[in-house]
Amino acid sequence: MSEYQELVREINACQKCALSQKRTNAVPGEGSTTADIMFIGEGPGYYEDQQGRPFVGRAGQVLNDLLATIGLKREDVYITNMLKCRPPENRDPLQNEIAACGGYLDRQIKLIAPKVIVTLGRFSFGKFFPGEAISKARGTPRKWGDLWIYPIYHPAAVLHNPRLKPALENDFKRLPELIRSINEPASQEAEGEKEPQQLSMF
Ligand code: SF4
Repeated sequence: MSEYQELVREINACQKCALSQKRTNAVPGEGSTTADIMFIGEGPGYYEDQQGRPFVGRAGQVLNDLLATIGLKREDVYITNMLKCRPPENRDPLQNEIAACGGYLDRQIKLIAPKVIVTLGRFSFGKFFPGEAISKARGTPRKWGDLWIYPIYHPAAVLHNPRLKPALENDFKRLPELIRSINEPASQEAEGEKEPQQLSMF
């Protein structure tokens, strides 16, 4: 069994917090385990809990549509959540639940080693930059250790407030350029350039 499969097995059997008691299925995450881009949402909703898969409800359809606008499919990226089990009535995650579940997410990040983590909404952004408003931070990539964090609105937010949709679409469209900008300095360094360029478009 691979390290990733072992992690999925542990999540599916986990009883570290009370959310384990009411779940139908845990939702570890899915997609490419060698992806450049990792999306982190908040927690599973009704359909995710039923199917054991992330982002398969209405917010998932928004995410699929956004991926298509930049020529990607779900299989090209990795998709997961802060919490692997559904909070009752889709309430916000509690701090003790985030703390209990956080080790799984940390292991996923380490195993997948993406180039960019796209945080969907305020809870996953808060894991990396606590206490900052997503409305101000969105659309600007930031370094967090060796990783780039790219905060954007949660797809569910545009279902509740359609006025946020243009911002989410625009932020999404900049993702390919961000990946290119990250890759360029790496290739230039490999070719022996002494002063790699900064991220140009941001
Ligand atoms: S939410 Fe996370 S910590 Fe809580 S039971 Fe599910 S997998 Fe375990």
